[in-house]
Amino acid sequence: MLRKKIAILGSTGSIGKQTLEVVRQFPEEFSVVALAAGSQVELLAEQVREWKPQYVAIGDSRLEDALRNALAGMDVTVFSGTQGLVELATLPEADIVVSAVVGAVGIEPTMAAVRAGKRIALANKETLVAAGSIIMPALAKHRAELIPVDSEHSAIFQCLEGRKSGDVARIILTASGGPFRNYRPEQLEEVSVADALKHPNWNMGGKITIDSATMFNKGLEIIEAHWLFGMAYERIAVVIHPESIVHSMVELADGSVIAQLGLCDMKLPIQLALTYPERRGSTFPKLDVTMGMQLHFQPVNHRLFPAVELAYQAGMIGGSLPAAINAANEVAVAAFLQGRIKFTRIIGIVSEIFGYHQKESFSKTPDLHEILAVDAWARERARVLLA
Ligand code: MG
Repeated sequence: MLRKKIAILGSTGSIGKQTLEVVRQFPEEFSVVALAAGSQVELLAEQVREWKPQYVAIGDSRLEDALRNALAGMDVTVFSGTQGLVELATLPEADIVVSAVVGAVGIEPTMAAVRAGKRIALANKETLVAAGSIIMPALAKHRAELIPVDSEHSAIFQCLEGRKSGDVARIILTASGGPFRNYRPEQLEEVSVADALKHPNWNMGGKITIDSATMFNKGLEIIEAHWLFGMAYERIAVVIHPESIVHSMVELADGSVIAQLGLCDMKLPIQLALTYPERRGSTFPKLDVTMGMQLHFQPVNHRLFPAVELAYQAGMIGGSLPAAINAANEVAVAAFLQGRIKFTRIIGIVSEIFGYHQKESFSKTPDLHEILAVDAWARERARVLLA
C-alpha cells in the first residue's frame, strides 16, 4: 500500500506531537513529508532527525538561521515565515495537511491548502472563525476536504454521518466549563494564571486552556460549528458537561439525541481525520463505560461566562466581527499569561473591541485581504487598550 504523506503545521504543539504519536501507530499507512513549528527550534530539529521529512519550516523567520544550523548536514529543505507555512501547506507530495498552529496565523496556510485541494485535518479553529465565509465556498470549488480535529466538531461530524440535513434539529456542543465552572462571578476577579491553567480534564496548550477557562473557546467553537456544518446559530446549543466524556451531540427532528463518547484524548479525533472514512484499531487507551461512570450536564451560567453570548452575537452579525474579536482575544490572553491583566479583563477587552470594530472598521463581506487587515487592526487596538 502506498503510504499517505502528511504535512504537519504546528508539529511542536500539543496537537502536532499527538499527531506524530498517531503516525507512529500506523507506519505502514502514513509518512511525514513536512513539519512546521512557530518558534521551538530545538524540538523541531529533534522531530526532523526522527521523522526525516523532506521539508521543514519555522514560522518565526528570525529563527531560520538557527534552524539551518541545527539541521546542518541533513537532506531537508528549509522554509520560514508565513510564506514557509504556505509552501508546506501546498506541497504537491502532501496528501493530508494537519493544520494545528495556534491562532490567526493559521488562516493563510489553511486557505492555501484549500486552494491546493488537500485533505485538511483542521485543529486550528481560529481559521474558520475569522475566515469561514471564504474557506467554506472555496472547499467545494477546489475539491478540498476539511475534517475537524476539534473534539466537539469531530463528535458532531461522526453523529451527522449519513444523515439528511433536514433530519437535524440542533447541534449541542458540550463544554467542560473549565476550572471555574462552579465559581461565583465575583470570584473570577481574583484568579491567578496558575488557577486558569489548571484544566480539570484536558492537557492542552496555554492559549486554549485560558480560552477554556473564560469559555471563549466554546464561543469560537460555536462559530466554527456554524461554518463547518452550515448550521444557523439558533440551532447551536451549549451545555456544561464536567466529565468531557460526551464530546458533543446532535438532536434529530424526532427528538432522538445522538452522542459521541470517548476519553479526553485528542489522538482519537486526530486519527479519524487521518484515516476517514476508514476506522483503525490502535493501542491507545479506550473508554470502557461498562466499568461504570457518572455523567453530568448543567446549563451555562452566562453571568459567569459572558464570552459565550458575545460569540453568538458576533457570529450572528458576522462579516469581519468574528475575526476582530478573535484577534482581540489572542492579544488579551497573551497579556494575561504574562501577568499584565486580570482574568476578567480578557473578555472585557474582547467586548470593547467588539464595540469599536462595529463603529470603526466593520466589513459585512470581507475578502481574505480585509480579514487579515481586520485581524491586524484588532491586535493594534487591543494593545492600545492594554497600554
Ligand atoms: Mg474543543
